[in-house]
Amino acid sequence: MEEKRNHLPQEKQKVLRVAKKAYEEKLMAGTSGNMSLFCPGTQQVVITPSSYDYGIMEEEDIVVIDLDGNVLEGRHKPSSEWRMHVEIYRNLPHVRAVVHTHSPYATSFAVNQQEVPVVLIEMIPFLKGKLEVSPYARQGSAQVGLNAVPILKRKNACLLANHGVVAVGEDMEAAYLNSVYVEDTARIYHLALCCGKPRVIPGYEEGGDV
Ligand code: 13P
Ligand code: ZN
Repeated sequence: MEEKRNHLPQEKQKVLRVAKKAYEEKLMAGTSGNMSLFCPGTQQVVITPSSYDYGIMEEEDIVVIDLDGNVLEGRHKPSSEWRMHVEIYRNLPHVRAVVHTHSPYATSFAVNQQEVPVVLIEMIPFLKGKLEVSPYARQGSAQVGLNAVPILKRKNACLLANHGVVAVGEDMEAAYLNSVYVEDTARIYHLALCCGKPRVIPGYEEGGDV
Protein backbone atom coordinates (compact mmCIF):
# COMPACT_ATOMS: atom_id res chain seq x y z
CA MET A 1 0.00 0.00 0.00
CA GLU A 2 1.21 3.50 -0.79
CA GLU A 3 2.57 5.32 2.28
CA LYS A 4 0.23 8.19 3.18
CA ARG A 5 1.92 11.59 3.33
CA ASN A 6 2.07 13.43 6.62
CA HIS A 7 -0.38 16.29 6.16
CA LEU A 8 -1.22 18.89 8.80
CA PRO A 9 2.05 18.54 10.78
CA GLN A 10 1.45 21.76 12.73
CA GLU A 11 -2.06 20.74 13.76
CA LYS A 12 -0.84 17.29 14.76
CA GLN A 13 1.94 18.85 16.85
CA LYS A 14 -0.57 21.06 18.65
CA VAL A 15 -2.79 18.09 19.48
CA LEU A 16 0.20 16.00 20.55
CA ARG A 17 1.67 18.74 22.78
CA VAL A 18 -1.58 19.31 24.63
CA ALA A 19 -2.27 15.58 24.97
CA LYS A 20 1.12 15.01 26.60
CA LYS A 21 0.81 18.12 28.78
CA ALA A 22 -2.65 17.13 30.02
CA TYR A 23 -1.37 13.64 30.83
CA GLU A 24 1.69 14.99 32.68
CA GLU A 25 -0.58 17.38 34.61
CA LYS A 26 -2.64 14.29 35.62
CA LEU A 27 -5.82 15.52 33.99
CA MET A 28 -6.36 11.90 32.95
CA ALA A 29 -4.97 8.49 33.87
CA GLY A 30 -3.94 5.60 31.62
CA THR A 31 -5.16 6.20 28.10
CA SER A 32 -8.32 8.09 29.12
CA GLY A 33 -9.16 11.42 27.53
CA ASN A 34 -8.83 12.69 23.99
CA MET A 35 -8.29 15.98 22.16
CA SER A 36 -8.89 17.35 18.71
CA LEU A 37 -8.53 20.36 16.44
CA PHE A 38 -10.97 21.30 13.68
CA CYS A 39 -9.81 22.57 10.28
CA PRO A 40 -12.85 24.47 8.93
CA GLY A 41 -11.45 24.87 5.41
CA THR A 42 -11.25 21.14 4.80
CA GLN A 43 -13.83 20.07 7.42
CA GLN A 44 -11.22 17.70 8.84
CA VAL A 45 -10.64 16.78 12.47
CA VAL A 46 -7.14 16.10 13.82
CA ILE A 47 -7.63 13.80 16.81
CA THR A 48 -5.75 11.58 19.26
CA PRO A 49 -5.74 7.82 18.62
CA SER A 50 -7.91 5.48 20.71
CA SER A 51 -6.45 3.73 23.78
CA TYR A 52 -2.89 4.81 23.04
CA ASP A 53 -0.13 5.45 25.60
CA TYR A 54 0.47 9.21 25.89
CA GLY A 55 4.05 8.56 26.96
CA ILE A 56 5.04 7.12 23.58
CA MET A 57 2.61 9.06 21.39
CA GLU A 58 4.25 10.77 18.39
CA GLU A 59 3.08 13.12 15.66
CA GLU A 60 2.52 10.18 13.30
CA ASP A 61 0.13 8.58 15.80
CA ILE A 62 -2.33 11.46 15.55
CA VAL A 63 -5.27 10.64 13.26
CA VAL A 64 -7.08 12.80 10.69
CA ILE A 65 -10.78 12.06 10.11
CA ASP A 66 -13.66 13.66 8.26
CA LEU A 67 -16.94 14.60 9.94
CA ASP A 68 -18.31 11.09 9.27
CA GLY A 69 -15.43 9.46 11.10
CA ASN A 70 -13.65 8.17 8.00
CA VAL A 71 -9.92 7.93 8.62
CA LEU A 72 -8.10 10.12 6.08
CA GLU A 73 -4.67 9.70 7.59
CA GLY A 74 -3.09 7.75 10.41
CA ARG A 75 -2.11 4.25 11.42
CA HIS A 76 -4.47 3.95 14.40
CA LYS A 77 -8.18 4.07 15.13
CA PRO A 78 -9.35 7.58 16.04
CA SER A 79 -10.51 8.23 19.60
CA SER A 80 -13.65 6.26 20.42
CA GLU A 81 -15.20 9.64 21.34
CA TRP A 82 -14.80 11.04 17.80
CA ARG A 83 -18.62 11.37 17.54
CA MET A 84 -18.67 13.67 20.57
CA HIS A 85 -15.95 15.86 19.01
CA VAL A 86 -17.73 15.93 15.63
CA GLU A 87 -21.13 16.86 17.12
CA ILE A 88 -19.52 19.76 18.94
CA TYR A 89 -17.87 21.04 15.72
CA ARG A 90 -21.07 20.53 13.70
CA ASN A 91 -23.20 22.47 16.17
CA LEU A 92 -20.82 25.13 17.46
CA PRO A 93 -19.00 26.89 14.61
CA HIS A 94 -16.96 29.09 16.97
CA VAL A 95 -15.27 26.00 18.47
CA ARG A 96 -11.97 24.96 16.90
CA ALA A 97 -10.58 22.69 19.61
CA VAL A 98 -11.99 20.14 22.06
CA VAL A 99 -10.19 18.75 25.12
CA HIS A 100 -11.81 15.81 26.93
CA THR A 101 -10.31 14.70 30.25
CA HIS A 102 -11.23 12.61 33.27
CA SER A 103 -9.53 15.04 35.66
CA PRO A 104 -10.19 13.65 39.15
CA TYR A 105 -11.72 16.50 41.15
CA ALA A 106 -13.96 17.64 38.31
CA THR A 107 -14.94 14.06 37.52
CA SER A 108 -15.90 13.49 41.15
CA PHE A 109 -18.52 16.24 40.72
CA ALA A 110 -19.54 14.69 37.38
CA VAL A 111 -20.04 11.37 39.17
CA ASN A 112 -22.23 13.12 41.75
CA GLN A 113 -23.99 14.91 38.88
CA GLN A 114 -23.35 18.03 40.92
CA GLU A 115 -22.76 21.54 39.56
CA VAL A 116 -19.90 23.71 40.73
CA PRO A 117 -21.20 27.21 41.51
CA VAL A 118 -19.28 30.38 40.69
CA VAL A 119 -16.98 30.52 43.68
CA LEU A 120 -13.77 31.62 41.93
CA ILE A 121 -13.01 34.61 39.72
CA GLU A 122 -11.45 32.51 36.92
CA MET A 123 -14.80 30.83 36.37
CA ILE A 124 -16.24 34.04 34.96
CA PRO A 125 -13.84 34.92 32.10
CA PHE A 126 -12.66 31.40 31.29
CA LEU A 127 -15.59 29.08 31.95
CA LYS A 128 -18.39 31.68 31.51
CA GLY A 129 -20.10 30.84 34.78
CA LYS A 130 -20.92 27.81 36.90
CA LEU A 131 -19.88 24.33 35.84
CA GLU A 132 -22.98 22.51 34.65
CA VAL A 133 -23.47 18.77 34.15
CA SER A 134 -24.72 17.36 30.85
CA PRO A 135 -27.03 14.32 31.05
CA TYR A 136 -25.43 10.88 30.94
CA ALA A 137 -24.99 9.21 27.56
CA ARG A 138 -23.19 6.01 26.65
CA GLN A 139 -19.45 6.46 26.09
CA GLY A 140 -18.58 6.75 22.41
CA SER A 141 -22.09 7.74 21.30
CA ALA A 142 -22.93 10.95 19.43
CA GLN A 143 -25.35 11.66 22.27
CA VAL A 144 -22.43 12.50 24.59
CA GLY A 145 -21.72 15.48 22.33
CA LEU A 146 -25.36 16.30 21.64
CA ASN A 147 -26.08 16.44 25.38
CA ALA A 148 -23.16 18.80 25.96
CA VAL A 149 -23.93 21.18 23.08
CA PRO A 150 -26.75 23.16 24.79
CA ILE A 151 -24.38 23.91 27.69
CA LEU A 152 -21.38 24.61 25.44
CA LYS A 153 -23.46 27.19 23.54
CA ARG A 154 -23.17 29.30 26.73
CA LYS A 155 -20.06 27.87 28.40
CA ASN A 156 -16.50 26.91 27.54
CA ALA A 157 -16.69 23.64 29.43
CA CYS A 158 -19.06 21.22 31.08
CA LEU A 159 -19.06 18.09 33.20
CA LEU A 160 -20.24 14.89 31.49
CA ALA A 161 -22.39 12.95 33.97
CA ASN A 162 -20.59 9.89 35.38
CA HIS A 163 -17.76 10.36 32.91
CA GLY A 164 -15.52 13.43 32.88
CA VAL A 165 -14.98 16.88 31.45
CA VAL A 166 -15.22 18.46 28.03
CA ALA A 167 -13.64 21.87 27.40
CA VAL A 168 -13.72 23.87 24.18
CA GLY A 169 -11.94 26.88 22.73
CA GLU A 170 -11.21 28.86 19.60
CA ASP A 171 -7.79 27.20 19.57
CA MET A 172 -6.01 24.33 21.30
CA GLU A 173 -4.34 26.49 23.94
CA ALA A 174 -7.65 28.05 24.97
CA ALA A 175 -9.44 24.69 25.18
CA TYR A 176 -6.57 23.26 27.24
CA LEU A 177 -6.51 26.24 29.60
CA ASN A 178 -10.25 25.89 30.12
CA SER A 179 -9.80 22.21 31.02
CA VAL A 180 -7.13 23.22 33.56
CA TYR A 181 -9.46 25.81 35.13
CA VAL A 182 -12.25 23.23 35.33
CA GLU A 183 -10.03 20.97 37.44
CA ASP A 184 -8.61 23.83 39.52
CA THR A 185 -12.09 25.13 40.24
CA ALA A 186 -13.41 21.70 41.21
CA ARG A 187 -10.41 21.05 43.46
CA ILE A 188 -10.71 24.37 45.27
CA TYR A 189 -14.48 23.97 45.64
CA HIS A 190 -13.93 20.48 47.05
CA LEU A 191 -11.35 21.80 49.56
CA ALA A 192 -13.64 24.67 50.51
CA LEU A 193 -16.50 22.22 51.12
CA CYS A 194 -14.21 20.25 53.45
CA CYS A 195 -13.41 23.22 55.69
CA GLY A 196 -16.46 25.43 55.47
CA LYS A 197 -19.35 26.70 53.43
CA PRO A 198 -18.25 28.05 50.03
CA ARG A 199 -20.03 31.25 48.90
CA VAL A 200 -20.88 32.30 45.38
CA ILE A 201 -19.03 35.46 44.26
CA PRO A 202 -21.03 38.38 45.68
CA GLY A 203 -23.20 40.09 43.09
CA TYR A 204 -22.57 37.42 40.45
CA GLU A 205 -25.60 36.62 38.34
CA GLU A 206 -25.55 33.62 36.01
CA GLY A 207 -26.10 34.78 32.44
CA GLY A 208 -25.77 38.45 33.42
CA ASP A 209 -23.15 40.96 32.25
CA VAL A 210 -19.74 40.02 33.59
P1 13P B 1 -10.14 6.89 23.67
O1 13P B 1 -8.85 6.32 24.17
O2 13P B 1 -10.82 6.01 22.65
O3 13P B 1 -9.95 8.32 23.17
O4 13P B 1 -11.18 6.94 24.88
C1 13P B 1 -10.84 7.55 26.10
C2 13P B 1 -12.04 8.15 26.76
O5 13P B 1 -11.89 9.08 27.51
C3 13P B 1 -13.37 7.57 26.52
O6 13P B 1 -14.36 8.39 27.03
ZN1 ZN C 1 -13.82 9.80 28.45
